[in-house]
Order: sequence, then C-alpha cells, then structure tokens
Amino acid sequence: MKLTIMGPPGGGKGTQAELLEKRLGIVHISTGAIIRKAISDKTPLGLAAEKYIDEGSLVPDDVVISMVKERISQPDCEAGYILDGFPRTIPQAEAMEGMGIDLDCALNIVVEDDAIVERLSGRRECAVCAAPYHVKYNPPKAEGKCDKCGGDLITRADDVPETIRQRLRVYHAQTEPLKRFYEERGLLRTARGCEELSDTTRNVLEALGVRQ
Ligand code: ADP
Ligand code: ZN
Repeated sequence: MKLTIMGPPGGGKGTQAELLEKRLGIVHISTGAIIRKAISDKTPLGLAAEKYIDEGSLVPDDVVISMVKERISQPDCEAGYILDGFPRTIPQAEAMEGMGIDLDCALNIVVEDDAIVERLSGRRECAVCAAPYHVKYNPPKAEGKCDKCGGDLITRADDVPETIRQRLRVYHAQTEPLKRFYEERGLLRTARGCEELSDTTRNVLEALGVRQ
C-alpha cells in the first residue's frame, strides 16, 4: 500500500500519518521532517533548503524529489509507505509517476483557512523525534515533553503568523491543483479535518475504507 496525504499546512497530515503508520504497519515519510533534520544537521541539503522553509516557500522540486527517491529505496519501504507532504506540486507528482511509482490512493484532508492559523499557533513538535503535538487538540501527557522519547517540545520557526499566511498562499497556488491531478486518475479520497483529533481519524479511516 502506497499512499500520500495532502492538505493545508497544519491540517493534520503528520498526526494522521503517524496513526496510520501504526494502524497499517507501513512507514510514515514526512518530507518536512526530513528537511528540518537536514537543516539541524547542517547537511548540504539542509543548507540549501533552510531559506525556503524559513520564508514559507517550497524547497525546489529537484531537491525534494531526489530526497524522496533516496528514502523510498530503503528496505523498510518495501511493504509500502505513507507520504506526508509529498508530492506538493504537479511536477513532483509527475516525477513520481516517471519513477514508476503507482500510488494506491491520495487522501486529501480538508480544513478551512480560518481554522489553520489557530491550529498552527498551538502546534508543537518534538525536537528529538519530530512527533507532532498540539497544546489544545493533541497535548502530550507531560507538559512540554514528548510522550514517545521524552524530548523537549518546540514551536517550529515557520509557525509564525506572517509565514503561515505565505504557506497558505503557496498551498492554494501549488499544492491544491494536485486534487484534480489525482481525481483524474481515480485515486482521490477526501476526509474532513475536525477540531477533535479522533473525529478526523474516523473520517480518514472511513475515506480509506479501513474497518473501525
Ligand atoms: P506543513 O504542511 O505544516 O507546512 P511540513 O513539515 O509538511 O509542514 O512542511 C514544512 C516546509 O517544508 C514547507 O513549508 C516547505 O518549505 C518544505 N517542504 C516539505 N515538503 C515539501 C515538498 N514536497 N516540496 C517542497 N517543499 C517541501
Ligand atoms: Zn520525541
């Protein structure tokens, strides 16, 4: 099973992808998390990507495509994977088809722009393992600490109001056209994102036809 989860920034892709990873037993691949790790490790990829992330624009297609290519060639991807944040542009989706990768489905999580700003300002991420949290909708058991690894929870540098607006603009201009792309291929499934995490999960499982 190979699937991609699409949706606006802060729409809950990462959180749902984590749950699906457990539920379906296939790996979760977040291009955003890979890029942020590369930035903190100061790798050549990270150095090239940093300015784009900080201003809320997309990292160039060729950079992200080679990164994903490398990641999905690892042995843990043989049984399938959940792509979170990729493809994010039509050229990325075309490149994936060009590599001979046939997705089983493209899941779109729908959230209105107005809800996004509130969600993103409450979002936190584990500095160590990148697990996603939200102070209100998905709080950790111990304040400020990751449930999984005990790492410190931080606010991402791009979760500030001006950058959030830029990311929404980029989403509507460059990522939303992918809905049509996958609809034309008969792969599009849609789930409404809700305030309550468990409601979103129910919609996601229903959209994927997973028994609950
Ligand atoms: P969000 O969906 O909340 O914006 P992500 O972690 O998915 O969070 O992405 C954060 C940033 O990483 C994006 O704003 C972009 O700069 C970069 N990025 C992630 N995935 C891609 C991609 N497929 N193509 C280009 N840039 C990407
Ligand atoms: Zn952690």
